[in-house]
This record gives sequence, C-alpha cells and structure tokens, in this order.
Amino acid sequence: MRTDIEGVYDWIREPDNAEFFSYGELLEWVENRPISHVLSVKNELKAQAALIAELVGALENAQQYIPIDAVECRGDQCREPWCISCFGEEDAAKAIEDASNHNCEIKKALTKAKGSEQ
Ligand SMILES: [Zn+2]
Repeated sequence: MRTDIEGVYDWIREPDNAEFFSYGELLEWVENRPISHVLSVKNELKAQAALIAELVGALENAQQYIPIDAVECRGDQCREPWCISCFGEEDAAKAIEDASNHNCEIKKALTKAKGSEQ
C-alpha cells in the first residue's frame, strides 16, 4: 500500500501532468480520499491519456488521405465523392469543401489534444 501511495505522488509530480492539475489542489484531493479511489482515478486518467495519444496518431496518419482537389477519372468509375467525372463538378466541389471542413476540425482537435498532453 505504501508503494501505491508513493506511486500516486510520483505520478502527480510528472511534468506531463503539470498542465492538467494544480499541484496543491490535487494534493488536497488525494489526501481527502481513500487510496483505492485515488488509484482507480489515476488508472482511469492514464488510460484516457493513452487513448488520446492513440487517437492523435491515428488522425495524423489519416490526414494525408483527405482529398484537397477534385479529380476526373474520365469514365473509370472510381466513385470517389470528389470525382467530377462520376458526380459532376458541383457535387465534387461540395465533397472537397466538406473534406476541407473535416480537416479543419481534425487540426483543431489535434492542437487541443497535443496541448493537453504536454
Ligand atoms: Zn470517378
């Protein structure tokens, strides 16, 4: 149990957590709760941080596949939503606009996620 408690304090002091927590507030929070609860919250936060890191990596990898220009397959039936030959100029332009908006959302989310992970 003692090593569990020391582990919690070491975790609080990790530089990565400096932006998440005010050290004093967190210390007070930890000291007023049963260690089993503190450990469960600590594990939950670590799992969330790992999931965020995984999502950041996946989004960064996926970004390169977001189309930035309409294409023309000229009858090859590619069926890409941004293909002028398959869906016409207007629909292809709309698909590119949607893709650009989604890319902006991804960039914003990545900026937030990276800001909170450091
Ligand atoms: Zn096509």
